[in-house]
Amino acid sequence: MDLYEYQARELFRDHGVPVLGGAIATTPAQAREVAAELFNAGSSLVVVKAQVKTGGRGKAGGVKLARSEAEAEQRASEILGMDIKGHTVRTVLIADGAEIDSEFYFSILLDRAERRYLAMCSREGGMDIETLAKERPEALARVAIDPLIGLSGDVVASIVEAAGFEPGSTADRIAEVITRLWEVFTAEDATLVEVNPLVLTTDGTVLALDGKVTLDDNAAFRHSEHAALKDTADVDPLEARAKEVGLNYVRLTGEVGVLGNGAGLVMSTLDVVAGAGERHGGMRPANFLDLGGGSSAQVMATGLETVASDPQVRAILVNVFGGITSCDTVAQGIVTAVGSLEDFDKPIVVRLDGNNAEPARRILAEAALPGVTIVETMDGAADVVTEIAHSAQNAQNAHGAYDTDRQGA
Ligand code: GDP
Ligand code: MN
Repeated sequence: MDLYEYQARELFRDHGVPVLGGAIATTPAQAREVAAELFNAGSSLVVVKAQVKTGGRGKAGGVKLARSEAEAEQRASEILGMDIKGHTVRTVLIADGAEIDSEFYFSILLDRAERRYLAMCSREGGMDIETLAKERPEALARVAIDPLIGLSGDVVASIVEAAGFEPGSTADRIAEVITRLWEVFTAEDATLVEVNPLVLTTDGTVLALDGKVTLDDNAAFRHSEHAALKDTADVDPLEARAKEVGLNYVRLTGEVGVLGNGAGLVMSTLDVVAGAGERHGGMRPANFLDLGGGSSAQVMATGLETVASDPQVRAILVNVFGGITSCDTVAQGIVTAVGSLEDFDKPIVVRLDGNNAEPARRILAEAALPGVTIVETMDGAADVVTEIAHSAQNAQNAHGAYDTDRQGA
């Protein structure tokens, strides 16, 4: 789970990482109130920051300084509602502003390929770190951390030195902050803790001015308190419902609903559908849905219902390879599921292969469900389903145009 910056800052504060105070707001008036509190408490500068789970907010105009309550309100009204890389800004953080001397970079992440953690540190922070890593890799120190040893004082010292900080008080303060950030990383079971920029202020303090934290969902059972960090407003309602009923469903942006058994098969089905869609009006997969091993009638019904309740879906492809679960069980599941769903009117293309495929096709043929087409191959099924989806969309568009004409009249 990725956290918002304001949540990351709260975790930082809990673990003794120096951050500046502030609070979130969802309206310009609220932003003004928060700013007023900060100014009354002695701030001379506040910063208004878009809270979206993507980087580059500064460049996009989502981070702005303000020197008065009225200015903070104005900045908040500009930033709220803004679109940053497809994320709508619904919340801003109003924080005490720092007078910056220098901006640095620090991160710790799980390096899966090396089976270690990796710390990265640079004296050149604030900017796009990917660009720095590519264009001047020598300016970004990379130090591997042995998970069995952790971040010892020696390792911290080697990170600070590798990044090119001269021994002295700033280097010592940075070492202290790195030690605290390591505590955040381990105590919270994170897979990423990134601070860009980590700043030296004009009065010599070292502060985390931004925070990006990814928590390891596999460790959620150890952190009941993390549940409160979950973002309910930003979760797709269909995905949320699917998760509740235990389905592995991810919503995409296309028109062809996809169900299959096994993550690998479903992924390749998405590719094949996207490929076939190029021949049929650019139809694309609308979702990923792995039914899992069981594929009982109940799971099939919930799966079909979930996929079909996406209003963008014009047609559905059920692609099953019978292994331990035989195809006839799946076919029976489809028959029962379609029969049990009221007002189910989306066309379904079924491709079944593998264990007991023949009897399965017979079951479906005999049931003669309206709107259900059986196709033997995966490529063939993708071709048929994208064609059906495309003509359904055309029919819908023609209808829409008619309605619009009428409104104009
Ligand atoms: P990002 O662009 O999404 O990474 O957002 P950041 O929080 O990193 O902010 C972007 C830039 O805004 C930083 O690199 C700073 O240069 C600037 N900035 C952010 N907060 C402050 C602040 O409190 N004071 C000043 N002077 N600049 C800030
Ligand atoms: Mn940043």
